[in-house]
Amino acid sequence: MIKFLDLKQVNLRYAKELKNRFTDVLDSGWYLLGENLQRFEENLAEYLGVKYVIGTGSGLDALLLILQAYMEMGCMKEGDEVIVPANTYIASILAVSKNRLTPVLAEPDLRSYNLDIARLEQHITKRTKAIMVVHLYGQTCWSKDIDVLAEKYNLKIIEDNAQAIGAEWFGKKTGSLGHAAGLSFYPGKNLGALGDGGAVATNDPELAQIVSALRNYGSHRKYINDYEGCNSRLDEIQAAFLDVKLRHLEKENAYRRKMAALYLSGINNSRVILPTLFTPEQPKSHVWHLFVIRTPDRDRLQKYLEKSGIQTLIHYPVPPHK
Ligand SMILES: *Cc1c(COP(=O)(O)O)cnc(C)c1O
Repeated sequence: MIKFLDLKQVNLRYAKELKNRFTDVLDSGWYLLGENLQRFEENLAEYLGVKYVIGTGSGLDALLLILQAYMEMGCMKEGDEVIVPANTYIASILAVSKNRLTPVLAEPDLRSYNLDIARLEQHITKRTKAIMVVHLYGQTCWSKDIDVLAEKYNLKIIEDNAQAIGAEWFGKKTGSLGHAAGLSFYPGKNLGALGDGGAVATNDPELAQIVSALRNYGSHRKYINDYEGCNSRLDEIQAAFLDVKLRHLEKENAYRRKMAALYLSGINNSRVILPTLFTPEQPKSHVWHLFVIRTPDRDRLQKYLEKSGIQTLIHYPVPPHK
């Protein structure tokens, strides 16, 4: 069986480096908020081209804490609206609703499967405070029109960059395009930990300060709690592993692009709709977290592939509004 994703194979490639880093952390006796996290946060900030990266316990928490921090800053309040793509993974929408903000679901563009930027303005009301831009399946969702809308309506642009780490828009990395971004290091993501993990990326010093307090019980100084925070830290051990794998990410994404190009040229079937590169003149605008096709015979094709030893998955079988 050709597995959809063989995590063991993915991580065995770096086994020696990972084991060395494990030993370092074990021997250090320091397991949370230490030098491994700091080093990874700095290296990731440099990679993305942002001033601040704050590690969190998961990608969902990264998005939750961005919105909570904006509420603490007075940029939005309960009941305000955040526009999100209707076909995203449920985490993007939970981050909004869990903060008692209102998710406003917008239809995607059927070619890119990303937000239809030309039709975003029709969803904006007096209560709209933010747009959650999801780079779904690994493809950059961006246009200078987003900056124009943000300016015109005073909106925060939050990138859900869980699926697209390493993707670019005219040389700038996703995660550095909006006001703040949430990243996920779930094991199956392009940069995967050996457990859960996430991060917030931003150039905004106030947002960075508040998020770094929120992830640690709302506290900047031990036992002094300024906000109603939570416990959502990125462990030293995961930060150490991620720091190893970050150095290989460009190579891994290049390999994904090579595989995608093979599929795109090799699959010729009138009943299979292949993914579209939205900006083919920018080859790095897609990091192929997933290679998603559409077909009227979906379930039959999946069974046929299964019988032929090829595992596939549906992304996603039930849309969040259901
Ligand atoms: C994976 C994912 C998340 C959440 O990340 P976790 O680390 O699993 O919490 C958020 N948004 C999207 C689009 C994702 O794919």
